[in-house]
Amino acid sequence: MSEQKPPLNKLNTLILTSTPLIALTIVPYYGYRVGYDLFEWAMFMLFMGLTGLSISVGYHRLWSHKAYEAHFLYRLFWAIWGACALQNSILHWASDHRNHHRFVDKDLRDPYSAKRGFWFSHIGWILRKYPSGVDDHSNVKDLMEDPVARWQHKYYFPLAVLTNSALPLLIGYLHGNLWGTLLLAGVLRIVLNHHFTFLINSLAHIWGGQNYDPNNTARDNHLLAYFTYGEGYHNYHHRFQWDYRNGIKWWHFDPAKWLIKISSWTGLSYGLKKPSEFKIEQACLKVEYNRVLAKSPSSISEHLKNGYEKLNGALEDLAALQKQWAETDRASNKSQLDQSEVKKRYDELKSNISNLRQEWYALRSEVIA
Ligand SMILES: [Zn+2]
Ligand SMILES: [Zn+2]
Repeated sequence: MSEQKPPLNKLNTLILTSTPLIALTIVPYYGYRVGYDLFEWAMFMLFMGLTGLSISVGYHRLWSHKAYEAHFLYRLFWAIWGACALQNSILHWASDHRNHHRFVDKDLRDPYSAKRGFWFSHIGWILRKYPSGVDDHSNVKDLMEDPVARWQHKYYFPLAVLTNSALPLLIGYLHGNLWGTLLLAGVLRIVLNHHFTFLINSLAHIWGGQNYDPNNTARDNHLLAYFTYGEGYHNYHHRFQWDYRNGIKWWHFDPAKWLIKISSWTGLSYGLKKPSEFKIEQACLKVEYNRVLAKSPSSISEHLKNGYEKLNGALEDLAALQKQWAETDRASNKSQLDQSEVKKRYDELKSNISNLRQEWYALRSEVIA
């Protein structure tokens, strides 16, 4: 007996089927018959960038995870472009996303659980009224205190209509051709942005490395980062979800991180959060240890455990000292002596840790070889 499917979400289904249909038929047909000019392509790129970043910089890292704080105007800007991205209101999106992190891979609570297959996690979950997708916004009470998020939620529908049709039409009218801008910056952009975001829920839970946390399906996928403004480093993100960065290396393609950082120089963003690099190393070390241990003969498991515990302990101490040092640095009543003591211990341990790392690498290669 087949399971009864929940009822269709008619509005979502209409939007998510009609826009790709137009993008696959009328958009190329118009391009073939009339053509698109450089200005129209530039508008397409601008709308792509702003709506894509509104999800990453705004919906995801600012509102869902509170990875940093932001000025009223900054929030307002991303709230408006976020409505244009046509992925529901901030409150709704953040509520779903917080559930996704909290109950990741649990069929009944994760709204887009990857365990339910590619189609479901990609788009299926939006098309029907699944019980796992119902949220009462009880997990976004903090966001309801934000007047910008409240306002955007209240006026989401008119904002979405205005930014998606009136704005491209107005730009097209001023440019002297209504349809070209609407088709590219409106329709084609909506479809691509939708599916690029959806790929984080589907593909970034299927394909890629798991160097930070193998206990859930999230993956680090460098390729996806190029389409999602840096959101491809999803295994790291699930482990350290409140980090304002997703790609932590300087060379990781993460435009959202760069923008948040640059904005902090002007005061538009502030209070940027990130974990200690030693905490991150600890997370990787733990994954690596368990992998190596699984491959190693039991005769050396004690030896491995020792190496791991020594390095892990040193990393733990370093992270604690780093925190203490930052705190003494901030405290107004600190003495020079306290500060230099902590700094001295920190420096000693830091130079010592390279030996522990070498020992660990040697042990690891012994097992792997
Ligand atoms: Zn995820
Ligand atoms: Zn997230």
